[in-house]
Amino acid sequence: MARVASGHDSGQATLAAAVQRQGIGLHSGIVTTVTLRPAPAHTGRVFVRTDLPNQPQVPAQVAAVDQTLLSTELRQGEATVRTVEHLLAALVGLGVDNLYIDIDGPELPLLDGSALGWVEAIREAGTVAQPEPAPALTLAQPITLQQGDAWIAAFPAEAPRLTYGIDFDVAAIGHQWFSWQPTADPFAPDSFAAAIAPARTFGLAHQIDALQQQGLIKGGSLDNALVCSHEGWVNPPLRFDQEPVRHKLLDLIGDLGLLGRLPLAHVVAYKASHRLHAALAQAIQRSALECPPGAV
Ligand SMILES: [Zn+2]
Repeated sequence: MARVASGHDSGQATLAAAVQRQGIGLHSGIVTTVTLRPAPAHTGRVFVRTDLPNQPQVPAQVAAVDQTLLSTELRQGEATVRTVEHLLAALVGLGVDNLYIDIDGPELPLLDGSALGWVEAIREAGTVAQPEPAPALTLAQPITLQQGDAWIAAFPAEAPRLTYGIDFDVAAIGHQWFSWQPTADPFAPDSFAAAIAPARTFGLAHQIDALQQQGLIKGGSLDNALVCSHEGWVNPPLRFDQEPVRHKLLDLIGDLGLLGRLPLAHVVAYKASHRLHAALAQAIQRSALECPPGAV
Protein backbone atom coordinates (compact mmCIF):
# COMPACT_ATOMS: atom_id res chain seq x y z
CA MET A 1 0.00 0.00 0.00
CA ALA A 2 1.82 3.07 -1.24
CA ARG A 3 0.00 5.90 0.46
CA VAL A 4 -1.41 6.47 3.90
CA ALA A 5 -3.49 9.21 5.41
CA SER A 6 -0.86 11.95 5.36
CA GLY A 7 -3.52 14.59 4.73
CA HIS A 8 -1.21 16.24 2.19
CA ASP A 9 -1.97 16.94 -1.41
CA SER A 10 -1.58 13.63 -3.20
CA GLY A 11 -3.42 11.30 -5.50
CA GLN A 12 -6.54 9.42 -4.53
CA ALA A 13 -6.98 5.67 -4.14
CA THR A 14 -9.67 3.00 -4.27
CA LEU A 15 -9.70 -0.77 -3.79
CA ALA A 16 -8.29 -3.08 -6.46
CA ALA A 17 -11.16 -5.58 -6.03
CA ALA A 18 -14.36 -6.09 -4.08
CA VAL A 19 -14.24 -7.68 -0.64
CA GLN A 20 -16.98 -8.79 1.74
CA ARG A 21 -17.49 -9.07 5.50
CA GLN A 22 -20.48 -10.08 7.61
CA GLY A 23 -21.37 -9.65 11.26
CA ILE A 24 -23.68 -8.36 13.98
CA GLY A 25 -24.34 -4.65 14.59
CA LEU A 26 -23.49 -3.37 18.09
CA HIS A 27 -26.69 -1.46 18.80
CA SER A 28 -29.31 -3.09 16.52
CA GLY A 29 -28.16 -6.69 16.97
CA ILE A 30 -28.92 -7.13 13.24
CA VAL A 31 -26.54 -9.22 11.11
CA THR A 32 -25.52 -7.47 7.89
CA THR A 33 -23.27 -8.26 4.94
CA VAL A 34 -21.00 -5.46 3.68
CA THR A 35 -19.35 -5.45 0.26
CA LEU A 36 -16.59 -2.88 -0.33
CA ARG A 37 -16.42 -2.09 -4.08
CA PRO A 38 -13.98 0.05 -6.09
CA ALA A 39 -15.29 3.50 -7.13
CA PRO A 40 -14.06 6.20 -9.56
CA ALA A 41 -12.01 9.19 -8.40
CA HIS A 42 -14.00 11.95 -6.65
CA THR A 43 -16.78 9.50 -5.66
CA GLY A 44 -15.84 9.64 -2.00
CA ARG A 45 -17.08 6.90 0.30
CA VAL A 46 -20.71 6.07 -0.37
CA PHE A 47 -22.92 3.60 1.50
CA VAL A 48 -25.55 1.80 -0.62
CA ARG A 49 -28.53 0.27 1.23
CA THR A 50 -28.99 -2.73 -1.06
CA ASP A 51 -31.91 -4.06 1.02
CA LEU A 52 -34.13 -1.00 0.41
CA PRO A 53 -36.21 -0.17 -2.71
CA ASN A 54 -34.14 1.70 -5.33
CA GLN A 55 -30.97 1.01 -3.30
CA PRO A 56 -30.58 4.52 -1.84
CA GLN A 57 -27.10 5.95 -1.30
CA VAL A 58 -25.84 7.57 1.89
CA PRO A 59 -22.58 9.54 1.43
CA ALA A 60 -20.06 9.32 4.29
CA GLN A 61 -19.98 13.10 4.64
CA VAL A 62 -20.39 15.59 7.48
CA ALA A 63 -23.72 16.80 6.09
CA ALA A 64 -25.20 13.30 6.40
CA VAL A 65 -24.66 12.99 10.19
CA ASP A 66 -28.06 12.18 11.73
CA GLN A 67 -27.39 11.19 15.33
CA THR A 68 -24.37 10.44 17.49
CA LEU A 69 -25.65 8.51 20.53
CA LEU A 70 -22.78 6.07 21.31
CA SER A 71 -22.09 5.65 17.58
CA THR A 72 -22.24 7.76 14.45
CA GLU A 73 -25.34 7.37 12.27
CA LEU A 74 -25.73 8.82 8.78
CA ARG A 75 -28.95 9.57 6.95
CA GLN A 76 -29.96 10.49 3.41
CA GLY A 77 -33.73 10.75 3.08
CA GLU A 78 -35.24 7.65 4.69
CA ALA A 79 -32.04 5.60 4.41
CA THR A 80 -29.77 5.36 7.46
CA VAL A 81 -26.48 3.63 8.24
CA ARG A 82 -25.31 3.27 11.82
CA THR A 83 -21.94 2.73 13.54
CA VAL A 84 -19.91 3.78 10.53
CA GLU A 85 -16.86 4.96 12.49
CA HIS A 86 -14.64 1.86 12.64
CA LEU A 87 -14.85 1.15 8.90
CA LEU A 88 -14.31 4.84 8.10
CA ALA A 89 -11.26 4.90 10.41
CA ALA A 90 -9.74 1.95 8.53
CA LEU A 91 -10.39 3.67 5.17
CA VAL A 92 -8.79 6.90 6.39
CA GLY A 93 -5.93 5.03 8.04
CA LEU A 94 -5.11 3.06 4.89
CA GLY A 95 -5.82 5.92 2.46
CA VAL A 96 -8.88 4.57 0.60
CA ASP A 97 -10.67 7.70 -0.68
CA ASN A 98 -13.25 6.31 -3.10
CA LEU A 99 -15.47 3.35 -2.39
CA TYR A 100 -19.00 1.99 -2.65
CA ILE A 101 -19.99 0.28 0.58
CA ASP A 102 -22.96 -2.01 -0.13
CA ILE A 103 -24.81 -2.95 3.06
CA ASP A 104 -28.00 -5.04 3.35
CA GLY A 105 -29.22 -3.56 6.65
CA PRO A 106 -29.08 -0.53 8.96
CA GLU A 107 -25.83 -1.03 10.89
CA LEU A 108 -22.22 -1.94 10.12
CA PRO A 109 -20.94 -5.20 11.65
CA LEU A 110 -18.95 -4.62 14.85
CA LEU A 111 -16.63 -7.55 14.03
CA ASP A 112 -14.26 -7.95 17.01
CA GLY A 113 -14.98 -4.40 18.24
CA SER A 114 -11.88 -2.94 16.57
CA ALA A 115 -10.98 -1.85 13.01
CA LEU A 116 -8.65 -4.80 12.47
CA GLY A 117 -11.17 -6.82 10.42
CA TRP A 118 -11.65 -3.86 8.05
CA VAL A 119 -7.87 -3.35 7.76
CA GLU A 120 -7.50 -7.02 6.84
CA ALA A 121 -10.33 -6.75 4.29
CA ILE A 122 -8.69 -3.71 2.65
CA ARG A 123 -5.34 -5.50 2.51
CA GLU A 124 -7.01 -8.61 1.07
CA ALA A 125 -8.59 -6.53 -1.73
CA GLY A 126 -5.49 -4.37 -2.29
CA THR A 127 -5.56 -0.71 -3.24
CA VAL A 128 -5.04 1.05 -6.55
CA ALA A 129 -3.80 4.63 -6.97
CA GLN A 130 -5.96 7.18 -8.80
CA PRO A 131 -3.92 10.06 -10.25
CA GLU A 132 -6.52 12.77 -9.59
CA PRO A 133 -5.26 15.01 -6.75
CA ALA A 134 -7.15 15.31 -3.47
CA PRO A 135 -6.87 18.80 -1.99
CA ALA A 136 -5.50 19.13 1.52
CA LEU A 137 -7.90 20.32 4.21
CA THR A 138 -6.52 23.37 6.01
CA LEU A 139 -7.80 25.47 8.91
CA ALA A 140 -7.93 29.24 8.82
CA GLN A 141 -7.67 29.44 12.62
CA PRO A 142 -7.89 27.26 15.74
CA ILE A 143 -11.29 25.78 16.62
CA THR A 144 -12.37 24.79 20.13
CA LEU A 145 -15.65 23.22 21.22
CA GLN A 146 -16.79 22.34 24.73
CA GLN A 147 -19.63 20.34 26.22
CA GLY A 148 -19.60 20.19 30.04
CA ASP A 149 -16.13 19.01 31.09
CA ALA A 150 -15.50 17.50 27.63
CA TRP A 151 -13.78 19.43 24.88
CA ILE A 152 -12.16 19.12 21.49
CA ALA A 153 -9.84 21.49 19.66
CA ALA A 154 -8.09 21.69 16.30
CA PHE A 155 -4.94 23.76 15.77
CA PRO A 156 -3.55 24.45 12.28
CA ALA A 157 -0.45 22.30 11.66
CA GLU A 158 1.81 21.14 8.83
CA ALA A 159 0.60 17.56 9.13
CA PRO A 160 -2.27 15.74 10.85
CA ARG A 161 -1.74 14.78 14.49
CA LEU A 162 -4.31 13.49 16.98
CA THR A 163 -4.12 13.50 20.79
CA TYR A 164 -6.79 12.02 23.05
CA GLY A 165 -7.38 12.05 26.79
CA ILE A 166 -9.91 10.10 28.84
CA ASP A 167 -10.71 9.95 32.56
CA PHE A 168 -12.90 7.16 33.96
CA ASP A 169 -13.73 6.53 37.61
CA VAL A 170 -12.77 2.86 37.35
CA ALA A 171 -9.21 2.08 38.43
CA ALA A 172 -8.47 -0.21 35.47
CA ILE A 173 -8.95 2.72 33.05
CA GLY A 174 -8.40 5.95 35.03
CA HIS A 175 -6.51 8.71 33.18
CA GLN A 176 -5.07 7.85 29.79
CA TRP A 177 -3.53 10.05 27.11
CA PHE A 178 -2.37 8.94 23.68
CA SER A 179 -0.97 10.86 20.73
CA TRP A 180 -0.63 9.59 17.18
CA GLN A 181 0.24 10.85 13.73
CA PRO A 182 0.01 9.07 10.37
CA THR A 183 3.21 7.24 9.40
CA ALA A 184 4.74 7.18 5.92
CA ASP A 185 5.24 3.41 6.24
CA PRO A 186 1.83 1.70 6.59
CA PHE A 187 3.53 -1.31 8.24
CA ALA A 188 5.51 0.69 10.84
CA PRO A 189 5.01 -0.29 14.50
CA ASP A 190 3.31 3.06 15.13
CA SER A 191 1.18 2.93 11.94
CA PHE A 192 -2.61 3.06 12.06
CA ALA A 193 -2.79 -0.67 11.29
CA ALA A 194 -0.46 -1.64 14.15
CA ALA A 195 -1.03 0.99 16.85
CA ILE A 196 -4.70 2.03 16.49
CA ALA A 197 -6.76 -0.43 14.43
CA PRO A 198 -6.55 -3.37 16.92
CA ALA A 199 -7.95 -1.30 19.84
CA ARG A 200 -11.42 -2.60 20.73
CA THR A 201 -14.70 -0.99 21.80
CA PHE A 202 -15.03 -0.88 25.57
CA GLY A 203 -17.80 -0.37 28.09
CA LEU A 204 -18.43 -0.19 31.82
CA ALA A 205 -20.14 -3.19 33.43
CA HIS A 206 -22.34 -1.02 35.68
CA GLN A 207 -23.78 0.84 32.66
CA ILE A 208 -24.75 -2.22 30.59
CA ASP A 209 -28.25 -2.69 32.06
CA ALA A 210 -29.20 0.96 31.53
CA LEU A 211 -27.96 0.92 27.92
CA GLN A 212 -29.89 -2.28 27.17
CA GLN A 213 -33.04 -0.73 28.67
CA GLN A 214 -32.61 2.16 26.19
CA GLY A 215 -32.61 -0.38 23.35
CA LEU A 216 -28.85 0.02 22.78
CA ILE A 217 -25.99 -2.53 22.53
CA LYS A 218 -28.29 -5.42 21.53
CA GLY A 219 -25.37 -6.92 19.58
CA GLY A 220 -22.73 -6.31 22.24
CA SER A 221 -20.99 -9.29 23.86
CA LEU A 222 -17.76 -10.23 25.58
CA ASP A 223 -16.51 -11.31 22.13
CA ASN A 224 -16.78 -7.83 20.59
CA ALA A 225 -16.28 -5.39 23.47
CA LEU A 226 -13.96 -5.04 26.43
CA VAL A 227 -15.97 -4.72 29.62
CA CYS A 228 -14.57 -3.02 32.71
CA SER A 229 -15.93 -3.21 36.26
CA HIS A 230 -14.75 -1.60 39.49
CA GLU A 231 -12.88 -4.86 40.18
CA GLY A 232 -11.00 -4.75 36.85
CA TRP A 233 -11.40 -6.03 33.28
CA VAL A 234 -14.10 -8.70 32.92
CA ASN A 235 -12.60 -10.21 29.74
CA PRO A 236 -8.83 -9.66 29.62
CA PRO A 237 -6.19 -9.69 28.22
CA LEU A 238 -5.92 -6.25 26.65
CA ARG A 239 -4.11 -5.81 23.33
CA PHE A 240 -2.32 -2.63 24.52
CA ASP A 241 -1.64 -0.93 27.87
CA GLN A 242 -3.83 1.96 26.79
CA GLU A 243 -6.37 0.13 24.65
CA PRO A 244 -9.36 2.30 25.74
CA VAL A 245 -7.83 5.66 24.78
CA ARG A 246 -6.45 4.17 21.57
CA HIS A 247 -10.01 3.08 20.72
CA LYS A 248 -11.29 6.61 21.37
CA LEU A 249 -8.63 7.85 18.97
CA LEU A 250 -9.82 5.25 16.43
CA ASP A 251 -13.38 6.58 16.77
CA LEU A 252 -12.09 10.15 16.28
CA ILE A 253 -10.25 9.16 13.09
CA GLY A 254 -13.44 7.55 11.79
CA ASP A 255 -15.61 10.56 12.58
CA LEU A 256 -13.07 12.97 11.04
CA GLY A 257 -13.17 10.64 8.03
CA LEU A 258 -16.49 12.33 7.23
CA LEU A 259 -14.30 15.20 5.99
CA GLY A 260 -12.70 12.84 3.45
CA ARG A 261 -9.20 13.17 4.85
CA LEU A 262 -7.63 14.17 8.13
CA PRO A 263 -7.22 17.96 8.27
CA LEU A 264 -3.79 19.59 8.44
CA ALA A 265 -4.25 20.16 12.15
CA HIS A 266 -3.35 18.92 15.59
CA VAL A 267 -6.68 17.72 16.98
CA VAL A 268 -6.81 17.35 20.77
CA ALA A 269 -9.84 15.74 22.42
CA TYR A 270 -10.57 15.24 26.13
CA LYS A 271 -13.44 13.05 27.36
CA ALA A 272 -15.09 13.71 24.01
CA SER A 273 -17.90 11.81 22.28
CA HIS A 274 -19.11 11.08 18.77
CA ARG A 275 -21.23 14.23 19.14
CA LEU A 276 -18.18 16.45 19.74
CA HIS A 277 -16.16 14.65 17.04
CA ALA A 278 -18.94 15.30 14.51
CA ALA A 279 -19.37 18.90 15.66
CA LEU A 280 -15.64 19.50 15.14
CA ALA A 281 -15.81 17.94 11.67
CA GLN A 282 -18.68 20.31 10.84
CA ALA A 283 -16.74 23.32 12.16
CA ILE A 284 -13.60 22.34 10.22
CA GLN A 285 -15.63 21.98 7.04
CA ARG A 286 -17.22 25.41 7.54
CA SER A 287 -13.77 26.93 8.20
CA ALA A 288 -12.28 25.30 5.11
CA LEU A 289 -15.18 26.52 2.96
CA GLU A 290 -14.88 30.07 4.28
CA CYS A 291 -11.13 30.17 3.75
CA PRO A 292 -10.02 27.74 1.03
CA PRO A 293 -6.26 27.02 0.64
CA GLY A 294 -4.50 29.86 -1.15
CA ALA A 295 -7.23 32.39 -0.33
CA VAL A 296 -5.35 33.91 2.62
ZN1 LIG B 1 -15.73 2.77 18.54
